[in-house]
Amino acid sequence: LGGSISRALQQMSNATIIDEKVLNECLNEITRALLQSDVQFKLVRDMQTNIKKIVNLDDLAAGHNKRKIIQQAVFNELCKMLDPGKPSFTPKKGKTSVIMFVGLQGSGKTTTCTKYAYYHQKKGWKPALVCADTFRAGAFDQLKQNATKAKIPFYGSYMESDPVKIAVEGVERFKKENCDLIIVDTSGRHKQEASLFEEMRQVSEATKPDLVIFVMDSSIGQAAFDQAQAFKQSVSVGAVIVTKMDGHAKGGGALSAVAATKSPVIFIGTGEHMDEFEVFDVKPFVSRLLGMGDWSGFMDKIHEVVPMDQQPELLQKLSEGNFTLRIMYEQFQNILKMGPIGQVFSMLPGFSSELMPKGREKESQAKIKRYMTMMDSMTNEELDSNNPKLMNESRMMRIARGAGRPVREVMEMLDEYKRLAKIWSKMKGLKIPKKGEMSAL
Ligand code: GDP
Ligand code: MG
Repeated sequence: LGGSISRALQQMSNATIIDEKVLNECLNEITRALLQSDVQFKLVRDMQTNIKKIVNLDDLAAGHNKRKIIQQAVFNELCKMLDPGKPSFTPKKGKTSVIMFVGLQGSGKTTTCTKYAYYHQKKGWKPALVCADTFRAGAFDQLKQNATKAKIPFYGSYMESDPVKIAVEGVERFKKENCDLIIVDTSGRHKQEASLFEEMRQVSEATKPDLVIFVMDSSIGQAAFDQAQAFKQSVSVGAVIVTKMDGHAKGGGALSAVAATKSPVIFIGTGEHMDEFEVFDVKPFVSRLLGMGDWSGFMDKIHEVVPMDQQPELLQKLSEGNFTLRIMYEQFQNILKMGPIGQVFSMLPGFSSELMPKGREKESQAKIKRYMTMMDSMTNEELDSNNPKLMNESRMMRIARGAGRPVREVMEMLDEYKRLAKIWSKMKGLKIPKKGEMSAL
C-alpha cells in the first residue's frame, strides 16, 4: 500500500504540468490503496471529493512541494474523518459509571473489558466486571479468569440464563460496593441476528449505561460499516474500540465505525495481554492506514522536535532497536526546552495523549521533571541499557532513595519507559533517510 501511494505521489511530482487529469490519476491511485486498507468505498469517494476542493491546482502548478501538499491533504482529511466532532462520555474517577460493551462474538469484547478495567485500575479507579454473556458456554469462566488475574471484582452466574437479570444484579451489587467503573460484558453471535440486537437493547434498557462501547476486530474489512450501524440502531453506541491492531489489518474499518456510530475511537487493542491496550491516537493510526507505517509521521516529528545535530544519532540508535532510558531523558529535555508543553503536545509519538493529557500541561511538566530527577539517580549502565530486567527491586529502591521519591514513582517512570520503548521499537530496522531526504517526505 505504502508503495502504491508513494508511486502515485512520485508520478505526480514527475509530471511537469499539473492539471486536473494528473491530480485525478493520483487520487485514483490513493483510492485503490485505501480500499485495500478496508476503508469503505463511500468514505473514500467523499474524501476524494474533499481533496479536490482543498488542493489548489495553482499551488501545485507553482512548483510547491507537490508530494507534500497532496499527502498532507489526504492525511488531514483522514484525520478529520476519524473525528466525529464531539468527544465520548468520559467517566469520572470516584463517580459511578456503567459502561456496556457490545460487538460480535470474537471481536474481543471480554478481553477488552478486562483491559479497560485494568487500565483504569492502574490509575487508581475501582472497576468491576459483570458477565452478561449467557449465550456462550465458558463465557463466565473466561471473564472470571481474566478478572482474577487482574484482581478485579466480577459478577456472573453458571446457572442463570437471563442476561438482563445478571446484568442488573451485577450493576446493583457493584453500585453498593462503591465501584466507580462498572463494566458490563455482553454476548455476541457469529452473525448479526435480530435476537442479539434485541438482547442488547434489553440489557441497555435495564442497566442504563453511561456509555456503550462498540468493540470491533480490525480485520473485519468492509463489513465494519454495516456491523457498527446495526449495533448503533439497537443501542446508543458512544465510543469505539478497535482490537487486534497487532495483526496485519490496517484497520480502515475504524473510519467506517466512526462514520456509522458518529462516535470516536477511544482505545486500540494491540495484543492478547492485559496491558496491550493503547489510548487511540489519530495521527499514527492514519499513518499506518496510508501505509506510511508511522515512519513519515515519526520522521516529521523527530525533525520538528529533536535538534538538528542530535537527529542522525537518535535515528541510528532507534533503527538498531535501542530505545534506552537515556534516550527518553534526552527527549524529555528537548520537550522541556521547547517551552510550554501545550505547544509541543502530540509531537513525539507516544509522548502525547498518555504522558501529557491536554489541559494538564503544568502537571505533565512537573511529572517529567520528577522522572528526570529519578533518572539522575541512575547509573550509566542503567541509563544505557534497554533491558528492563536490569531494574530489579534493590536498584529501584536505590534510585528512589537517591531521588527522594517513593519507589512507586520509580516503577511508574519505568512503566512509562516500557510503554514508550514499545512504541518506538517500531523504528527498529528502519532505513535511515539521508540528509535532505527527510524534509522531502
Ligand atoms: P469476545 O467473543 O468478543 O468476547 O472476544 P474475546 O475477548 O473472547 O476475544 C476473542 C479472541 O481474540 C481471543 O483469543 C483474544 O485473546 C483475542 N484478542 C482480543 N483482543 C485482541 C488483540 O488486541 N490482539 C490480539 N492479537 N488478539 C486479541
Ligand atoms: Mg466474550
